[in-house]
Amino acid sequence: MEKKLNIAFVAPEVVPYAKTGGLADVAGALPKFFPEAGHTVKLFLPKYKKIDPKKFKLKKLQSKITFKIADRNEIASVFTTELVSGVTVYFIDNSAYFNRDELYGERGKDYQDNDLRFSFFAKAVLELCKRMDFQPDIFHCHDWQTGLIPTYLKTLYREDPFFADSATLFTIHNLAYQGLFPPESLSALGLGRDVYTSDTLEYYGKVSFIKGGLVFSELLNTVSQKYSREIQTEEYGCGLEGLLAARKQDLFGVVNGIDYDDWNPETDPMIAGNYSVADLAGKSFCKKELQDEYQLPHKDLPLIGIVSRLADQKGFDLINEVIDEIMKMDLQLVLLGTGEPKYHEMFEEIKKKYPQKAGVALAFDAKLAQKIYAGSDLFLMPSRYEPCGLGQLISLRYGTVPIVRRTGGLYDTIINYDQKNGNGFAFTAYDSKELLQTIAKAIGVYADKKTWKRIQLRGMKADFSWHASAKKYLDLYRKAINIKRK
Ligand code: ADP
Repeated sequence: MEKKLNIAFVAPEVVPYAKTGGLADVAGALPKFFPEAGHTVKLFLPKYKKIDPKKFKLKKLQSKITFKIADRNEIASVFTTELVSGVTVYFIDNSAYFNRDELYGERGKDYQDNDLRFSFFAKAVLELCKRMDFQPDIFHCHDWQTGLIPTYLKTLYREDPFFADSATLFTIHNLAYQGLFPPESLSALGLGRDVYTSDTLEYYGKVSFIKGGLVFSELLNTVSQKYSREIQTEEYGCGLEGLLAARKQDLFGVVNGIDYDDWNPETDPMIAGNYSVADLAGKSFCKKELQDEYQLPHKDLPLIGIVSRLADQKGFDLINEVIDEIMKMDLQLVLLGTGEPKYHEMFEEIKKKYPQKAGVALAFDAKLAQKIYAGSDLFLMPSRYEPCGLGQLISLRYGTVPIVRRTGGLYDTIINYDQKNGNGFAFTAYDSKELLQTIAKAIGVYADKKTWKRIQLRGMKADFSWHASAKKYLDLYRKAINIKRK
C-alpha cells in the first residue's frame, strides 16, 4: 500500500475565509479530497483583518511562534479551525502585517511591505510545522505569495533534517502576478546575494517571489494544460518563458474543478428557483429575479452575464470597442465586478447609455454572483489570457452557456458549438470583430429553443468536479516526493 501523506497546503487566500479570485476557490475545495484517502492535510493562510474569528470559530493557540528573519525578531500568533474533518486550518497572524483592510493592497496599489508580510508568513509556516512536529511530505504552494517557502527550504533550511524529505509542488494560478521587489529587499528577507542571479530570484533588476517558487520547487503546475504550454511562449510567459521552457519536463497542467456541492442549481438556496437536468423550469424564475435585481424589463431576450475582476486580463477592451454594436442586438447584459477604475467608468457609461438593456453592479458580491450564474442565458469571458477560469465552469453547471475566447483553461473546457457538438461559443483571435460575430451567432442559436436546450444540458451533464483533478494532484505530489528523495 502507498504511504499516506502529510500535506502542507499553503495559500494566500482560501474560500470561505478570504477571497479575491479563483485561487481561493481552489484552495478551499481541493484539500477536502485528501482526508478521505487517509492523508493528513494542514492548510496555512494569513489571518487577515477580514477573517472574523467568531464567524469561523477560530481558536487561538496558546503559545506564539518566535523566529528571526534577517536581524528582526518576529512573533506569530496562530489561530486554528477545521475546514472539514481531516483538514485543519492554521491562520498566521501578526497585526503589524495583516490587520489591514485588504489582502495585498488597495485600489490596484500593492502594499509596499508585501515582501516582509509574505516572508513573515512563509517562515512562520515552516516554524509552525516544526513546533507541531508536522513533517510535510509535500508543501503545495500557490502563487507568488508562497514563493519563499521553496526558497527558504532550499537555502536557510537546506541542512535542516526536519525538512530533509519535504518536497514542493508550486502551482501557478496567474503568472502575471509575480511579487516583485527592489533588490534591497533581499537582505530583509534573510537571503544572500547567491540567490540574486538570473537563474534564481533576480528578474530584470528586481527580486521576484514567483521565481522562488519556479526555481526551487521540485515540480510546477498551472491550472490548465493549454496555459502550461502558453506560458512557455513570449506572448504569455511574462518574461519567464525561458525558465518555464527549460523546466518543461517538470511543468504540468491540471485543470481546476469546482465544488459541485456548493455550486448546484438543484439545491442552491440563493436562487429564486431550483432546477436540474431533469427539469429546467426553475431557471426562468432565476432570470426574472436577476432582471429585477438589475431593474431590467422582464423580456424573453437572451441575457448575458459577466462576473469578473475588472482587469486588463479579462478582455474588457474588446467589449468596449464593439459595445454599441452589441447593444443593437436583441439582448440584455448584466455585469458584476470590481477592479480598475477605467473599467468602472466604462461600465457606468454603458449603464447610462443603455438603461433598458444593461445592468451594472460594481461590487464584490458572492450572492449576486450566484444569481447571475443561475439567471443568465449566456456567460461572457473574452479573456486575453485565462490560466483556468472558474466562471465558465460554474456557468456550465447552471445551464448558462459560455461565450469565451479560446485561451488557457477556456480552450481546455469550452467546445465551440458547431451544429452537432459543443457546450458553448468560442472565438480564437483577440479581436473585437470576432467577439461580436460570436455573440451574434450565440444569439441566433438561442432563438432555436430545442438546440439551445441541448447545448445547456451538455454543459450541465459534464463533470468538472474536483474528483479527477484531485487524483492528478496526488500523482504530482508522489512524483515530487520521488524527485526529492532521489
Ligand atoms: P480570476 O481568478 O482570474 O479572478 P476565475 O474565473 O478563476 O478568475 O475565478 C473568479 C472567481 O471569483 C469566480 O468564482 C467568480 O465567480 C468570482 N468573482 C469574481 N468577481 C466577483 C465579484 N465581483 N463578486 C463575486 N464573485 C466574483
